[in-house]
Amino acid sequence: ADVNDEDSCEGADNNDGGISPAALAKEVARRRNFAIISHPDAGKTTLTEKLLLYGGAIHEAGAVKARRSARHATSDWMELEKQRGISITSTALVFENRGFQITLLDTPGHQDFGEDTYRTLAAADNAVMLVDAGKGLEPQTRKLFEVCRMRKLPIFTFINKMDRPALEPLELMDQIEKEFNLPTYPVNWPIGSGDRFVGVYYRPRNEVHLFEKGIKHGSRGASVRVLPWGDPALQEIIATDLFEQLQEEIELLEELTPPLDMAKIHSGDISPVYFGSAMNNFGVELFLESFLEYSIQPGSHVSDIGEVGPDYPNFTGFVFKLQANMDAKHRDKVAFLRVCSGQFLKGMKVQIARNGKTLALTRPQKMFAQDRTTMEAAYAGDVVGLNNPNAFCIGDTIYTGPKRMFPGIPSFSPELFCYMRNPNPSKYKQFVKGLNELLGEGAVQVLYSVDSGRTDPILAAVGQLQFEVVQYRMLSEYGVETQLEPLSFSVARWVTGGWPALEKVGRIFNCSTVKDQWGRPVLLFRNEWNVSQLLGDHPEIGELAPYALPP
Ligand code: GDP
Repeated sequence: ADVNDEDSCEGADNNDGGISPAALAKEVARRRNFAIISHPDAGKTTLTEKLLLYGGAIHEAGAVKARRSARHATSDWMELEKQRGISITSTALVFENRGFQITLLDTPGHQDFGEDTYRTLAAADNAVMLVDAGKGLEPQTRKLFEVCRMRKLPIFTFINKMDRPALEPLELMDQIEKEFNLPTYPVNWPIGSGDRFVGVYYRPRNEVHLFEKGIKHGSRGASVRVLPWGDPALQEIIATDLFEQLQEEIELLEELTPPLDMAKIHSGDISPVYFGSAMNNFGVELFLESFLEYSIQPGSHVSDIGEVGPDYPNFTGFVFKLQANMDAKHRDKVAFLRVCSGQFLKGMKVQIARNGKTLALTRPQKMFAQDRTTMEAAYAGDVVGLNNPNAFCIGDTIYTGPKRMFPGIPSFSPELFCYMRNPNPSKYKQFVKGLNELLGEGAVQVLYSVDSGRTDPILAAVGQLQFEVVQYRMLSEYGVETQLEPLSFSVARWVTGGWPALEKVGRIFNCSTVKDQWGRPVLLFRNEWNVSQLLGDHPEIGELAPYALPP
């Protein structure tokens, strides 16, 4: 449904739900928020650019990348960024289409893959899983999928690069169904692949969309010819073998796939699948149209005192990411807030649930790429950048009205571990202060050895870059030169039953016992196999969890 007019927040300038319930519901209903999960090179940047084109948010494809490089030229955050040619910062991109306000949470990928990539998913309501048609499922997609599943997010699959040699569509669907135990529903179906990828059959309207090649990348959309299935012209336009194959496949699909069940899409139990080519702009607009119809609007969040719905009149939200020094000129830190309910207004007085502190948010910023525009009001599903350097921690609940507390953001299963040493005792204070602040920001996880007697902190991360960032910032912000000593573990598991469960087992081989920042037991293993071995030998240890929420 189109929800076009925007009349809502006029005159609402106080803290206590100044917006009418109807206007609030309308703002929520027209919001959609999602993140793209993919393996590097699948085409996330390209798809992002094409999606933004339809929103009129940027006018030329390439602008996202251009912005990135322009920023690299001016920013000294970081030298590291420049040296490695990557962008460490992720942003929320906002665009409008068909009356919806769409927030695309940009998940860091490539070499800057880290905990922030996972955390961004904590702020997302929907996920788009982007798969390279020639490669099928890849490791980074698998990891990110697990986090989406844990959150029960609706997952939309876009199979990209159909203009290149591709695996069979049925095989790609089979991979998703078997490996992820996730049934699929193809919403469109490709006609040919590689050089012969000529279009898609769009099932909701029984239409054939034929693409015309050779359209400039910068133009608004690919030129498409739409014909109803059954139009005799199709047999003339489409090569005979492709036409016959399509005919068979359409029949097969009707037999194989039960009618589309929206509730199952919303609960993440079935994934709508789309085939296309982001680079050629084939199938992107159809995808967007269908996504807006099937995706869920911002929903309820569990809190310490029950569910908080998006239409709950008081403002609530949580911090899912902290970003230091995004802009060299400002030397600031930005806390990214996901709004969960009510109306967020500039200048609003809010409280932080962790410590009961009150503060006025005088300079909230909507993030659009790296250009900052100050925003006036935000609603459930929106992401707001807050300029308030040291007030926030990852996972903080921010609210007005009666206290509410969201459960916080999990510590995601780290895969890289190293001791961090401070070789200079005179810098002890700075070392501890720096480490604690970086820990609060969620730049890295910190563990301490229990069985080795060594007191140096163990840094634990999801991506290698997290270590480099910590070392860089320890030196540039706290003046401490640090040394890293890698450990040869690659798997961490929280012992859900705590220390008593561990005691039952006694001495364990092939793993190291450490504790997290809250003193809870964590086991480090060299590989998954050692985890299974322990569970097989000592079932009395109980559950070993790859993630842990803050206590
Ligand atoms: P990311 O690493 O996932 O952000 O991937 P990019 O968007 O940077 O794309 C990786 C490479 O794949 C680039 O060279 C793109 O031009 C190319 N690419 C993206 N989409 C398509 C597509 O649909 N077809 C083809 N042939 N190449 C594509």
